[in-house]
Amino acid sequence: MERSNFGFDSDFGFRISNLSRPRNNTGSSMSEMMTDKSKRLIVPLLPLRDIILFPHMVVPLFVGRDRSIQAIQSAMEKDRRILFVLQKDAKTNDPQEGDIFTIGTLGRAIQCLKLPDGTVKVLVEGERRGRILRFIPNEVFHVAEVEEMETPYALTLDMQAMMRSLQNAFEIYAKINQRITPEVVTSLTTMEDPNRLTDTMVAHIGLKLEDKQRLLEIGHPGRRLEDLYKLLRSEIEILQVEQKIRSRVKKQMEKTQKEYYLNEQMRAIQKELGEKDDLATEMKELELRIKQKKMSKEATQKVEKEFKKLKLMPSMSAEATVVRNYIDWFLALPWSHCTKDKLDLKEAERILDEDHYGLKEVKERILEYLAVQGLVKKIKGPILCFVGPPGVGKTSLAKSIARTMGRRFVRLSLGGVRDEAEIRGHRRTYVGALPGKILQCIKKAGMNNPVFLLDEVDKMSTDFRGDPSAALLEVLDPEQNHTFNDHYLDVDYDLSRVFFITTANTLYSIPPALQDRMEVIRIAGYIEPEKMQIAKRFLIPKEMKANGLKLENVRFSDAALMSLIQSYTREAGVRNLEREIASICRKVAKKVLGEGRDVSVNVTSQGVQKFLGVPKFRYGKGEDQDQVGLANGLAWTEAGGELLTTEVTVMAGRGNLTITGKLGDVMQESAQAAMSYVRSRADRFGLEKDFYQKLDTHIHVPEGAIPKDGPSAGITMATAITSALLKIPVRSNLAMTGEITLRGRVLPIGGLKEKILAAHRGGIKTVLIPKENEKDIKEIPPKILNSVELVPVEHMDEVLRRALVLDDPDHFLGPRIEKIETSPIEISLGVTA
Ligand code: ADP
Repeated sequence: MERSNFGFDSDFGFRISNLSRPRNNTGSSMSEMMTDKSKRLIVPLLPLRDIILFPHMVVPLFVGRDRSIQAIQSAMEKDRRILFVLQKDAKTNDPQEGDIFTIGTLGRAIQCLKLPDGTVKVLVEGERRGRILRFIPNEVFHVAEVEEMETPYALTLDMQAMMRSLQNAFEIYAKINQRITPEVVTSLTTMEDPNRLTDTMVAHIGLKLEDKQRLLEIGHPGRRLEDLYKLLRSEIEILQVEQKIRSRVKKQMEKTQKEYYLNEQMRAIQKELGEKDDLATEMKELELRIKQKKMSKEATQKVEKEFKKLKLMPSMSAEATVVRNYIDWFLALPWSHCTKDKLDLKEAERILDEDHYGLKEVKERILEYLAVQGLVKKIKGPILCFVGPPGVGKTSLAKSIARTMGRRFVRLSLGGVRDEAEIRGHRRTYVGALPGKILQCIKKAGMNNPVFLLDEVDKMSTDFRGDPSAALLEVLDPEQNHTFNDHYLDVDYDLSRVFFITTANTLYSIPPALQDRMEVIRIAGYIEPEKMQIAKRFLIPKEMKANGLKLENVRFSDAALMSLIQSYTREAGVRNLEREIASICRKVAKKVLGEGRDVSVNVTSQGVQKFLGVPKFRYGKGEDQDQVGLANGLAWTEAGGELLTTEVTVMAGRGNLTITGKLGDVMQESAQAAMSYVRSRADRFGLEKDFYQKLDTHIHVPEGAIPKDGPSAGITMATAITSALLKIPVRSNLAMTGEITLRGRVLPIGGLKEKILAAHRGGIKTVLIPKENEKDIKEIPPKILNSVELVPVEHMDEVLRRALVLDDPDHFLGPRIEKIETSPIEISLGVTA
C-alpha cells in the first residue's frame, strides 16, 4: 500500500508553549471559562489554491506540488499536524510568505495515497484555527511558527437565537438546493456548538472563497454566526430568483415545444391528406414574388423586413396570418403597372357620342379637358366634378371617359362615409385592420392609373371618428397625392397617375376646400324630347338585350314613350324611365317564353297602362283652367325642377293666416312677407283698409306630405293671395319663380335651368323669372326657349299684371312703374333658391 510509504504516527509537533486545554470545548460552561491562552507550535505549511479547510472538516486533498508533497511527507513522519492556508492567488505556483493568508486551519493528515501520476491524495481533518506568527527558513518546504487561535465566548441568548435562525435558514436553503442530503440537514440542525455549527455549515454552502476566508478569520463564534446568516440569506434569495427564472424558462420551453409538436403534427396530417403546399415551398414562392414585384424602395424595404419576421414565426400562429396578409397587400397592389393612355380626341368624341345622347356642352368640356391632359402628359390640375340630379348619366360619363382613354374604371361611393379610416384605412394594430377604400379600389383596378370615380362626394358626413373630407383632400390634391399615406400600409403610395372624377347632386354640401379642387360640370337634366331620344337610342336597345329580346319582339310607339316619361316617372334624369322600360321588357320576355319566339308586341300608350297599371303621377301638368287663388310656382329639388302650385282661400274670420303643406321656416316667412306686401297695396287694389281683420287666409302648397323650403315661392304666394282676395283668376299656363321683398321687389333665385325644364314638362307657356336671372337664360336649351316664353320681372306689380286675367291691367293696377326705388332695409340675406 502506498500509504505505508509515509508511515504513520511519528511525532512532528514541537510545542513551544504547552498550556493545554480540552480539545473540544462544546459546552457553554467550559467556553465561558476559557481565556485567550494560545499554544504555539512549529508545523509544516500546506498552501491551498482553491479550497479552504475549516475545523471539523474531513476532506481529501490532491497534492501535486513538490514542496507540498514534502511537507505532507514530513508531517506524516512526525505528529501529522499541518497548517492548511489559502494562497491569495490560486494561480501562484510557488507561493512565498506574502502570497499566503496568515490565518488558516491546523489539521492532521489522516491518510496518504500516492497516485500513479506522482500526485498524492491525502485525507485531512481540520482541527482549529491557526495564525502564522513567522516563517521558519526551510529549503524543502514551508515551515511556520503557528499559534492556535481560541476565542473565549459566552453562549448568550442572542447567540442561541441566531443559531436557531441559521439552522432554519439552512433548512430552507437545503430545500432549494437539492444537493444537500437530509442527513446533513439533521446533523446541522441538532448541533449545539456555535463554532462547530458555523464551520461545518460553511462546507455545505456555495460561498465565494473570499467570504469563506473572511469567516475563517472571524474568531468569535457570535460574529461568525451573524455573518454567516447574512451570507446564507442572500444566497437563499439568489437561489429563489434563479429558481423562478428557471421555472419560467421551463414553462416557455414547454409551450414552444408543444406548439412545435402540434405544428409538426398538423403538417404531417396535411401531408397525409395530400395538401402538398408545404410551408417551405410556400415561403420560397413568397420570397420569389417579393423579389420579382416592382415596388417603391420604401415598400420593398418594409416587405423584406416583414418577411424576415414571418420566417421566424410559427406558421399557424395568429401573428403570422397578420404579417402574411400585410405582405399580400403589398404584392397585390399595382405599384408600377399602368395602362397606356389613348389620347385620340376624334376617337374620344366618337365614344362619348356612342355612349350618350345630347350633353353637347358637357362632352365638349370633357374633350377640352382631355386635350389639355394630352398636352401636359400628367394630370395635374382640378378634378372633374359632375353635378346634377340622379340618373342624368354622371357615372356612365365617367365610364366613357375611361373607355376613351383606355384606362381601367373603378367607382367608390362616398355616400354615408363618415369615418376617416374608410378612406385611409385602420392602423395595423387594430384587429382585422385593412387598407382604406381608396387603396382597395386601386387593388381592384389592378393598374395604378385608373379612372377613379368618387361618387356622391356631397353625401359624405363628419363625426367623431375624424373627417373623411380631409383625407379626401389629400387624395385629390395633385401636390400631395404622390405620397398618399394609408394607415394600414404605413408606406407612401403614389396616386398622382390616377384620374379622379367626382360626382354630386348638389354643390352646397361639398366642403369648400374640396370644391376648390374641382372643376364643376353641371348636368341639369333632360327635357322630354331628349328623354325620348335617349329611350329610343339607348335605353330600349339596352334593356331588350339584357332581357334576351330580339328587335322584332317589341316596339314602343312614341305615344307610349311619352306616357312613360310623363305619367310613370318624375325625374330630371332617366333612371326610372330605364327601370320602367326594363319592367315592360321583362313582361314581354315572359310572353315570348309562353307564346313562342315570334311574338311581336306593340307597346302603345294604352299598352303601357296594361303593363304598368294606372299612371303613377299626374305629374307637373298646369291646371287646365284659369282659377282664382291658384298660382303655379317652380321649385328646385335634388332630383331636378318641379312645378308646384300654391293654393290660397280666404274666408270670413279674424285676420288669421294659416300656412300648411309642410313648409320650412324660410317658406313660412316668405308667405308672411307676401301677405304684408298685399296689405301694403290694399289701397291700390281697392280693398278696404282693414280687410284682413275680417278675413282668415289659408295658404296651402300641395303635396302636403313633402317638406319644402326656400324663398323662391315668394311671388307665387303673393300672386295667389292677391288673386284670392280680388277674386281674379290666375293664368293657368303661366308659372313664376322669385323671392319677394316687403316692397314687392323680385329677387333672383337659383336652379333656373332645372325650373324651366320642369315648366316645360308641365306644359307651361310663360314663365316669370327675376330680372337678375336673365344671365342664366343662356344655359337653357334653345328648343325649350322656343316653346316657353321667359319674362324677366323686377317688381310684383309686373308679376300681377302678367299673371292675373285682367281686361285692363292699367286700370286696375295703375300705370306701369318705370323705376323701382330700393330702400336699405330691403337687403336680402342668404342664398336664393
Ligand atoms: P347618375 O350617375 O347621374 O346617377 P347614371 O350614370 O347611373 O346616372 O345613369 C343612369 C342610366 O341612364 C344609365 O344607364 C345611363 O347609361 C343612362 N343615361 C343617362 N344619361 C344618358 C344619355 N345622355 N344618353 C344615354 N344614356 C344615358
